[in-house]
Parts: sequence; structure tokens; C-alpha cells
Amino acid sequence: MPDAKNANQPENSVSPQPQYLQALTGQPALITGASSGIGKAIALGLAKAGADVVVNYIGNPLPAEDVAHEIEMLGRRAMTIEADVSQEDAVERMFADAIQHFGTLHITISNAGLQADAPFDEMTLAQWNKVIGVNLTGQFLTARAAVREFKRRGPQPEISVASGKLLCTSSVHQEIPWAGHVNYATSKGGINMMMRSIAQEVAPLRIRVNAIAPGAIRTPINRAAWDTPQAYDRLMGLVPYLRIGEPDDIARAAAWLVSDAADYITGATLYIDGGMTLYPGFATGG
Ligand code: NAD
Repeated sequence: MPDAKNANQPENSVSPQPQYLQALTGQPALITGASSGIGKAIALGLAKAGADVVVNYIGNPLPAEDVAHEIEMLGRRAMTIEADVSQEDAVERMFADAIQHFGTLHITISNAGLQADAPFDEMTLAQWNKVIGVNLTGQFLTARAAVREFKRRGPQPEISVASGKLLCTSSVHQEIPWAGHVNYATSKGGINMMMRSIAQEVAPLRIRVNAIAPGAIRTPINRAAWDTPQAYDRLMGLVPYLRIGEPDDIARAAAWLVSDAADYITGATLYIDGGMTLYPGFATGG
């Protein structure tokens, strides 16, 4: 078990060596927000598992091009597409370009997300709309475009048992209320019901729809929670497994969940959180 006192040191945050089965060969995948953090790790993880990858980004193209280059170094094909996932026309264009380039998509991972935090009574409508627009409406637009393509193409059993796999990125905050982050927690709670309702609707088409719910993962979105020893120690009070999650912890789980090894799983949320949702405050009897 890592020493929580020094646990902000990377060597004390031991994450397993990546192990990816070549389970996604021939399955083009689109990942939103894939130029950093969890999205980048998933893009690389899926490429290690054999997938060709569309790297969606917004803003500076260079980090996305670096990810695409790393994917190509793994022997897979990659393309970058800029699109603001909260904009319908941009998402539609992104899918059209991706499908034209790769012929189809077998996997879509709606990962793009952001925070705009404020005490509730000071939260502006702009902060509310921004987070709901990207985290929830963005996932709706991405999911709808993916399902339309999965339906259009239909089954290709020689490539995958399922006719398509959609993975939404939620958070432990679909379950754990989060003061000061009402817009973010609401967006993730919305993803839970959206994901399950889509899953119910498209299951007869053999389209699988699931979600991953990360806990505290070492990425830019939550830097303040881990980048000083004091912050890290405080964070460990919330993580029974006593280490922060690394983006590759999420990528390995995502690669498995969209593979045929997980074929009977639909409508499920997989918490990847080192036990954060185990109510650690009750570990000593409450
Ligand atoms: P991150 O900030 O590195 O990644 C978010 C990505 O989304 C960035 O690349 C950003 O450019 C992109 N993005 C933001 N707005 C966009 C838009 N309008 N269109 C397209 N892309 C956009 O942070 P991350 O931690 O990798 O977050 C990825 C996902 O994981 C988010 O949905 C986040 O809510 C979720 N998550 C993260 C954690 C964590 O601890 N890091 C925990 C739970 C859930």
C-alpha cells in the first residue's frame, strides 16, 4: 500500500503496466476531447488495442496532432478533427468527415467535458449553460450521431459482435453530490439517465451503450486537487485505495468495455474510482 504522506510522488502512485489485447482491430473509434487527459489516454489505449482513431479537439491543434502522431507510431491510422461538441452543425460535420475517412465508426467515446465552478447562489446562467452545453448536450449530440451511423451501417459480425459501442464519460458525481459544482454534478447525473435510456432504446439493434465514471484522475481538469502534497493528502481522505487514478487506469477499462469481451454489458456505469463511491467517511463505523 502506498505511503499516503508521500503519495503525491509519482513512484508512490503505482498504476499497473498497460495490457491491451488486440481486441479492437478493424474498428474505427471517435473520441471527443482527445487531446489531453483521459481522452488522450483512451485514444492511445484504443490504438494499442488495434483501433484506428479520430482525435477530436477544440482550440490549439498541436496537442491533438501529437496524439495522432503517437497513434500512427503504434501502427494505427489517426485523424484529428476540430469540433465544439456543444454545436450541432460541428458535431454533424465531424461525424461526416470521420465516416468519409474511415468508412464507418464502430466505437464512439463522448469524453469532452469541463467545469465552471461557483457557489450556487453566485453561479451565473452563463456558467450553468456552458457546463450543461458541453457535458450534457455535447454528449447527446455525439451519442445521436454515433447511433445514426451504427444503425445506418448495421451489423458486421466479422468485425464485432455488437453493431456499435457508445461509451459516455460520466463521473462519481453522477452519484456523489458536489457543493460548489452544481452545474457539473447535474450534467453527470443527466448523463446517467440519458445513457440508460439510449441503451434501452437501441439494445434490440445490438448497439451497446455504457458509461465510465472516473473518480479522482490525474489530469488538468482537477490539478488543484493533486498538485501539492497538502492537496494530495486531503484527496486521499476520499480514496480508500490510497492512490490517485492515472488516465491509463481509465483507458484500460474503456478498451475492455467497448470490446466484445464485454458483449453482454449495456446500460451500465463502470465506476473507476479507487473506492471513492464506497463512502469512505463510514470506514470507521460512521
Ligand atoms: P481535460 O480537461 O484534460 O479534458 C477535457 C477535454 O475536453 C479537453 O481536451 C478539452 O479541450 C475538451 N473540451 C472541452 N470543451 C470542449 C468542447 N466544447 N468541444 C470539444 N472538446 C472540448 O480533463 P479530463 O479529466 O481528461 O476530462 C475528461 C472527461 O472525464 C470529462 O468529461 C470529465 O468530466 C471526466 N472526469 C474527469 C475526472 C478527473 O478526475 N479527471 C473525474 C470524473 C470525470
